[in-house]
Amino acid sequence: MTSPKTKSQQTRSPSTPHRPSQGNRDFRNRTRRDPKPSEAREATPRSVVHGAANAQPCIILNEGREKSLLRRHPWIFSGAVERVDGAPVSGDTLPVRDTQGKFLAWAAYNPDSQITARVWSWREEQNIDAEFFRSKISNALSARTMSNLVQHSSGMRLIHAESDGLPGLIVDRYGDVLVVQIGSAGGERWRDTIADILQELCKPVCIFERSDSDSRALEGLELRCGVLRGTLPDSVEVIEHGLRFNVDVANGQKTGFYLDQRDNRALTETLAAGRDVLNCFCYTGGFSLYALRGGATSVLSIDASGDALRIAAENLTLNGLDAARAEWQEADVFQALRKLRDQGRKFDLIILDPPKFAPTAAFAEKAARGYKDINLLGFKLLRPGGLLCTYSCSGGISEDLFQKIIAGAALDADVDAQIVHHLHASADHPVLLSFPEGAYLKGLVLRVADCS
Ligand code: SAH
Repeated sequence: MTSPKTKSQQTRSPSTPHRPSQGNRDFRNRTRRDPKPSEAREATPRSVVHGAANAQPCIILNEGREKSLLRRHPWIFSGAVERVDGAPVSGDTLPVRDTQGKFLAWAAYNPDSQITARVWSWREEQNIDAEFFRSKISNALSARTMSNLVQHSSGMRLIHAESDGLPGLIVDRYGDVLVVQIGSAGGERWRDTIADILQELCKPVCIFERSDSDSRALEGLELRCGVLRGTLPDSVEVIEHGLRFNVDVANGQKTGFYLDQRDNRALTETLAAGRDVLNCFCYTGGFSLYALRGGATSVLSIDASGDALRIAAENLTLNGLDAARAEWQEADVFQALRKLRDQGRKFDLIILDPPKFAPTAAFAEKAARGYKDINLLGFKLLRPGGLLCTYSCSGGISEDLFQKIIAGAALDADVDAQIVHHLHASADHPVLLSFPEGAYLKGLVLRVADCS
């Protein structure tokens, strides 16, 4: 697997598998996806003021800074902390108190992060122990199975971090393999307990750890990738709506597959019949395979990762789909779209599902230029009456802002377009009401007018 390393990838340990990407604008090179809590702050942690070292370990907030905790937002930023009593170390569970000493929450402490603590529980009588994790994990599992959240898929997000009450913990299931990603000091501390409970409750053949996202560095955590329990099978597959996908859990992006787009991929299938389709940022061919099965006349799929494209082509064969209607192109989408424009190519359905351009609002302006660029080109490449399915997985770009950017792109492309669908992540990626950061994925299906 050879692909250019991004700036952030170069800082990884050599043994860590790197994620494929290319391009010369730094926002192009971000891999997706999930709200990375650690990205919601500046890179350098503020140092925490320490109180008496021999006092009971405790986090005391500045006056008035308990407000977000009272609204049950689970992050305590360093700026909200007046002092930390005792001599706690990263990963310890501490009580959080207001200036009057009133209990607010139990939280995992991380002095190396701008998020000094992440809340485990709001109840003072709660012990943060193996039983606590068993109950949180089984709640997350039963929420998914009992309410039939996910149908027609052997892949599912079992634990969606903060939104499932387990800050920094992501668990994805691909058949009988679980992939775990830990992004918080608290999750790190309870890693073995969590693995034991997952093993007991889910009985997978393997639990594989992909704690190798760049955001770990911002938490002061080492990158780690490898088998946690059991043995990794030679190949891992996920079957979605009857389509089979190979998942490279060890080297693929994120935990290996983008489960969040499941429903949106299925929608694409219903829109594709008789259309010439362009799928940009195709990864292992998700949207492409659905479009082909849905009767697309042709599907051109573009990604910067040669490895992802190789798996995509294998996935096509695995499903017995017509290779003659599929074309795979390894390229930078920003350049490829311009080339297609210059060649006068036209499509009836275009999918734009780029990596995260703006992890936080601080990156929004730069990211907005990136989104506008590809969407403007997308609009220009559409035939009259064509459809643009466009996504943003940037936590730093709100749904409202995304829609405004797309409106600006349509205006500059001189097209009238209507929104036909507002889209989000699949239901196994729930969003806790008190944690809006969980709603990172937004999408629009737009129909371009067929006459002026
Ligand atoms: N739609 C996919 C997921 C896309 S993830 C699915 O449903 O599975 C984003 C993809 O963008 C990754 O595969 C990554 O390799 C690719 N990528 C990142 N920067 C790129 C660039 N500048 N040009 C082309 N592809 C890029």
